[in-house]
Amino acid sequence: MSQRREYEIAFVGLKPGMHIYEYRIEDKFFIPYGEQDFEDCIANIKLSLEKNSGFLQLKFDIDGTLKVPCDRCGNTLPMQLWDEFNIIVKMVDDPEVMNDQEEDPDVYYISRGESHLHLADWIYEFINLSIPLQKMCRQEEIGGPKCNLEVLEKLRKMEADAQKDSTPTVWKGLDKFKNLE
Ligand SMILES: [Zn+2]
Repeated sequence: MSQRREYEIAFVGLKPGMHIYEYRIEDKFFIPYGEQDFEDCIANIKLSLEKNSGFLQLKFDIDGTLKVPCDRCGNTLPMQLWDEFNIIVKMVDDPEVMNDQEEDPDVYYISRGESHLHLADWIYEFINLSIPLQKMCRQEEIGGPKCNLEVLEKLRKMEADAQKDSTPTVWKGLDKFKNLE
């Protein structure tokens, strides 16, 4: 999965200093990761890579749109992606041990012998982290053209039925005490 050529950077040959890369990510990028809970993704990833001796400083700027289902009515909602992520990649002798021990999620170790950075999994993770947590039609859209009225109506009915069912049992229980006095 991380062996995808178009998302690799051969950093060994780079001059020290800043280098900029841009990637356009669409739905087909996610195919190797299985089914996603969004669609119609169009994201621009701008990666600023600063090469230093012994480490690389990476900054990913995520900018784009995708569509997710509304958590309440299942309707398709357009979402804006807007976020940035920073990672420091350090070259060490024992990257596996170091990665296991490292608690800072923004620090990542690779072997001194490594010549390429594999970006695909980071891009995948950062796009997912950029999706807003709140996935619901806005208040003013409820009942509007974007909202799924049929589902909302069913939900309302289910809530109403649940209340109808529960009310009598409470009163039935209390009925027993009515004649005691
Ligand atoms: Zn909705």
